[in-house]
Amino acid sequence: MIGGLTSLSLSRIAFARQSNGPITATKLSENIILFTGAGGNIVTLTGPDGLLMVNGGLPERSADLTKTLSSHFNVNRVQVLFNTDWHLENTGSNETLGSAGAKIIAHENTKLWLGTDIRVEWENRTYKPRPAKALPNQTFYTSGKMTFGKEEVRYGYLGQAHTDGDIYVFFPGPNILMTGDVFTAGAYPIPDYCTNGWLGGLVNATKSLIDLSDAATKIVPGIGPVQARAELESQLEMCSTMKTRLADLMRQGKGADEIVAAAPTAEFDKKWGNPKLFLSVAYRGLWSHVRELGGIV
Ligand SMILES: [Zn+2]
Repeated sequence: MIGGLTSLSLSRIAFARQSNGPITATKLSENIILFTGAGGNIVTLTGPDGLLMVNGGLPERSADLTKTLSSHFNVNRVQVLFNTDWHLENTGSNETLGSAGAKIIAHENTKLWLGTDIRVEWENRTYKPRPAKALPNQTFYTSGKMTFGKEEVRYGYLGQAHTDGDIYVFFPGPNILMTGDVFTAGAYPIPDYCTNGWLGGLVNATKSLIDLSDAATKIVPGIGPVQARAELESQLEMCSTMKTRLADLMRQGKGADEIVAAAPTAEFDKKWGNPKLFLSVAYRGLWSHVRELGGIV
């Protein structure tokens, strides 16, 4: 029933990320900048003595990122780094910044993944454990907050959704919400079942992000440009609809390739692009949650 899937060797980067071009900066508030082009989206908050950073791009772009940061800030020492999940597109600067003494904050599950072998079936790739200096050195399970410079920073867990270590980082002052890869713009979000993500969890996590924001919140997705709350509502509708449709197709005994061929995402593809990876990964992940779907067979 899940035949065909293991032969898929698809890369998130190929599908969703522009990672070889220049790194570009977009100012979001007086002291918050969004950097794109180094892997996943990166957000910096400037404090009096250095930077707080949410995510650090791909390892191969880490040196370019350091250079870019130097050109933007007088004091570019990174004091705090958040990892919104374990993926390389977000944790590629952990070695450099961890060695330089940054506090690396993540969900406990993200630390566990970074310290072990990870087999990602749908990428046909195994990720090796990262060195000790690259591991988060401050973890949490539910939520936390801090003050950095004059800004309040709140962060929290989003459950098993894109992975089982997804977190958001919220800056209530300027009303900016960094969602991590739970929310994506211009590409389907990926419920990575290999590290315990699933589509039902994406539905719940998207609801949580909607509850955290208001109509004026600047929402920074894991990839893609800044969005408004209405786009989170669109993603919630898409994910909820697809959860129901995929469960129905599974009840009809359809396999991964048949589901892709049935084009169940048709009306959503204009907004989110090629659905093949999303469908294959979402379908496989749902099999681990058959009971929550009310049974399939
Ligand atoms: Zn990710």
